[in-house]
Amino acid sequence: MPSVSLPQIEHDFPELQFKEGEVFSWNPNSQTVYYEKLDSQEDLVQLLHEIAHAKLGHKNYQYDIQLIEMERSAWEYAVDTLAPKYGLTLSMDDDNIQDSLDSYRDWLHKRSLCPQCGAVGLQATSSSYKCINCHSEWRVNQAKSCQLKRYQIK
Ligand SMILES: [Zn+2]
Ligand SMILES: [Zn+2]
Repeated sequence: MPSVSLPQIEHDFPELQFKEGEVFSWNPNSQTVYYEKLDSQEDLVQLLHEIAHAKLGHKNYQYDIQLIEMERSAWEYAVDTLAPKYGLTLSMDDDNIQDSLDSYRDWLHKRSLCPQCGAVGLQATSSSYKCINCHSEWRVNQAKSCQLKRYQIK
């Protein structure tokens, strides 16, 4: 069982809303942290990660690489600042943190591959990539922060 209760966390972050949701996520528009469940220490760690996005003021991003950067900085904040507050020992080397970051990197790599020739393309706009090899262009969907793991299981 987690060593910290949700009421404690709600008390510590009165500026944020906490609501049960389908996945762990952070909504900057309503300043709401959604949690899927809070049954285990792993769930608590994921909740701290979402709180880190909130405390760092993460909002929408334009380029995919910015999402990777937000993910990394949110984990760093969770590890360095939030976990010690709750007596948790986390490290950036923890498997679930590395797996999470890897899933974003894989996702970024896959969508950057040219569907025509397989070369790695460049992101042209928030929703399109361009191939510098064959000059194809392709569209991509905006991903929602922290929901990628779910789409990665293929
Ligand atoms: Zn190409
Ligand atoms: Zn995240």
